[in-house]
Amino acid sequence: MNPFTYERASDAPAAIGLAKGSAAARYLGGGTNLVDLMRETVERPEMLVDVTGLPGGIEPRADGGLRIGAAATNTALAADAHVRTHYPLLARAILAGASAQIRNMATVGGNILQRTRCRYFYDTAAACNKRQPGAGCDARDGFNRYHAILGASPACVATHPSDMCVALAALDATVHLDGPAGPRSIALADLHRLPGDRPDVETELKPGELITAVELPPLSFARRSTYRKVRDRASYAFALVSVAAALDLADDGTVREVRLALGGVAHKPWRASAAEAALKGRPASPESFRAAAEAELAAATGLRDNAFKIELAKRTIVAVLSDLTGDDA
Ligand SMILES: Cc1cc2nc3c(=O)[nH]c(=O)nc-3n(C[C@H](O)[C@H](O)[C@H](O)COP(=O)(O)OP(=O)(O)OC[C@H]3O[C@@H](n4cnc5c(N)ncnc54)[C@H](O)[C@@H]3O)c2cc1C
Ligand code: SF4
Repeated sequence: MNPFTYERASDAPAAIGLAKGSAAARYLGGGTNLVDLMRETVERPEMLVDVTGLPGGIEPRADGGLRIGAAATNTALAADAHVRTHYPLLARAILAGASAQIRNMATVGGNILQRTRCRYFYDTAAACNKRQPGAGCDARDGFNRYHAILGASPACVATHPSDMCVALAALDATVHLDGPAGPRSIALADLHRLPGDRPDVETELKPGELITAVELPPLSFARRSTYRKVRDRASYAFALVSVAAALDLADDGTVREVRLALGGVAHKPWRASAAEAALKGRPASPESFRAAAEAELAAATGLRDNAFKIELAKRTIVAVLSDLTGDDA
């Protein structure tokens, strides 16, 4: 591990001011990802600015939505009564991730900005365009079972590992930022980037920007929502494929509204807009669900070890939507 200094900030302006003083500063949440990366010397910050003392409240909004402070722990968010009642897919997604001990430490801001789990990214002896632009990508012809089937590029086939972010993408979450140029907001779905030829640039964040909060709009039908994670072990494993879904049915059994997002398939949480469009107004039947899944995965491509995820993703979409209609698939 390289030497670094440590500062603790009590509010956003103090954190931004501290980080502005050092080009190699990083904000520190629970440290469950960043400190691992520092141990492997993948990350070499000169200064850590601890932001766990910033607001972490979870507050219902007057319109029925929710405001979540970036320092809220994953445990607190999953246990929140408003979340469990109004956004059950979010609680389920968080509880599907990591372990209780890690969720106790991990923060909402850190979870959103956690980095890929591609093993070659963590191995400084491997070629990785994300770690070292222009170096190559050992995952392309290496072990790529967990890698992307949608939106990948020749430069990088990594996936975003967060379960929580998949639910946030389905829920149209907004991320509030603050930084040297002042506050702004961005849709969670637009925050993470596809790799293109710059996989090292993972988000739309500008230098020194801090996540201060996440907001969820009200979504009455999200009470009928869920999250399913398919993985190699029943716990403590990242997603091969995951699906977050909320469904609103009309009295005649057709789909009035649907929200669908996929995890484990792309460099970012993947909002399944093609599937949503294919479902609206259609009967809530396994046939419609399969047609929607086919539409979403039409552009998917597989590598040596992960081509099975294309069919797995389709089947998981059908299974989750069938669950929400009370059918078994
Ligand atoms: C063994 C293990 C298993 C795991 N399994 C899963 C899993 O199954 N599913 C899953 O989703 N996750 C899993 N995780 C990842 C875990 O969820 C993340 O490590 C955690 O959410 C990161 O949160 P943190 O607060 O500890 O972030 P940190 O490690 O502190 O920071 C992560 C990144 O976010 C930045 N950052 C932190 N806070 C802010 C802020 N407010 N504004 C701007 N930047 C910020 C940091 O600079 C850093 O770049 C696992 C982790 C481990 C170690
Ligand atoms: S997939 Fe991306 S993160 Fe993994 S080795 Fe290739 S460039 Fe690096």
